[in-house]
Amino acid sequence: MARNEKVVPPLDEPAHVRRDRSNTKMAMPKPIRLLAAACMALFFFLVVQIMRGPGEVKLPAVDDGKIADMLRDPNLDETGEPPEPLHRVQGHNYAPDNSDSDRINATLLSLVRNKELEPLIQSMQDLERTWNHKFNYPWTFINDEPFTTEFMQATKANTNAECRYLQIPKEHWAVPSWINEDLMHESANILEEHDVQYAHMKSYHQMCRWNSGLFYKHPELQDIQYYWRVEPNVHFFCDVDYDVFRYMRDHNKTYGFTVSLYDSPWTVQTLWPETMKFLASGNSHLLAENNAMDWLKDKERRPNHNHDANGYSTCHFWSNFEIADMNFWRSPAYEAYFEHLDRAGGFFYERWGDAPVHSIGVGLFADKNSVHWFKDIGYQHIPFFNCPNSPKCQGCVAGRFTDGEAWLNKEDCRPNWFKYVGNEWAAADDASDLAAATTSAQG
Ligand code: GDP
Ligand code: MN
Repeated sequence: MARNEKVVPPLDEPAHVRRDRSNTKMAMPKPIRLLAAACMALFFFLVVQIMRGPGEVKLPAVDDGKIADMLRDPNLDETGEPPEPLHRVQGHNYAPDNSDSDRINATLLSLVRNKELEPLIQSMQDLERTWNHKFNYPWTFINDEPFTTEFMQATKANTNAECRYLQIPKEHWAVPSWINEDLMHESANILEEHDVQYAHMKSYHQMCRWNSGLFYKHPELQDIQYYWRVEPNVHFFCDVDYDVFRYMRDHNKTYGFTVSLYDSPWTVQTLWPETMKFLASGNSHLLAENNAMDWLKDKERRPNHNHDANGYSTCHFWSNFEIADMNFWRSPAYEAYFEHLDRAGGFFYERWGDAPVHSIGVGLFADKNSVHWFKDIGYQHIPFFNCPNSPKCQGCVAGRFTDGEAWLNKEDCRPNWFKYVGNEWAAADDASDLAAATTSAQG
């Protein structure tokens, strides 16, 4: 039986009906009757299952499209700063021309095309206003082509910090020799049937591969440890008054994110199987002791995603924002992993994104406690937000995850991270809830 239900004879039946039932009891022994009832129930259960077919598993319905297990968005709770130690501006310690400043080995990093100048300036202005005019970390712009003079002049005009302009070495950007371009074209047709965006755009695949495993190999980035990735046309909403790079270093953080999403399973169909192959071929010792494998493998929340992605939840950190330690990407574990993926060809035959690749790499080879949710950094890349509830934020609605259609809310994968790894801010949130409750009780 489907749901462990017991068959109980109704008590409100008229006496003669009950008597009739007791008459049949005489005709057929009890075990046979029970067996017959069980067979009938099984029969109907199977008929119903067959009629239903392999349709979509229904997600729990909620009005705003959020999956019901995140009862309350933690961004509604008042957000302050992460725990001390926090390194702040004092006098001239972060002045742009201070050769002995408190800045550490880090840069703002932007892969960008010349034609994206205007949307890039928008991102720069937001980040300079909310954070970098205080700390003056250098900007590094990277491109597969030379930057125009106009681009260089306009970007320099929007910061007091140093600006660097790098070109990607040809061999880092080129489609690798082992990729068959005919097969790539055929594969893109299949991706397109699944509505995968940018399926036929070769440069997009190149960009995803480069962001996954090559950017930190640029000769002129070799001395740099931390980076904050910035894309054109993103927004920053909240004043941040501490050095986020020193935060990463002082708190042993490897990777910082703001938004976490589900991915289209069709872009990564063989990414998880390849990952398993990598681990099975003598590499399982590379797994971090305290890894986030459970998070990567979840199949409870969106079973179809896990099914279609062959065992991967598709949960990932949305990498258009990331603050991270390049030494992690340079580690033997991640290097070997990227090398394996690159040979497997999925950057071109599928559309593996740098977001799932980075996220699986971090999830498997880094300690899960070295991943940090930058809850206090208000951020938007269309169509998603991280918008905390804080007087330091302006221009976004606290707790709003998307300004697109309501169904986009179910793309939020943070609840899975909280479930398997935890929410570092929870204790502070509870304390602020308690304080608010006490104040209102007193008031
Ligand atoms: P989306 O956010 O996934 O829709 O992709 P974007 O178009 O925003 O691209 C991601 C990042 O890579 C952005 O910073 C782009 O400026 C950059 N990018 C994408 N393609 C190219 C390219 O062909 N050349 C360069 N230089 N940058 C690129
Ligand atoms: Mn983008």
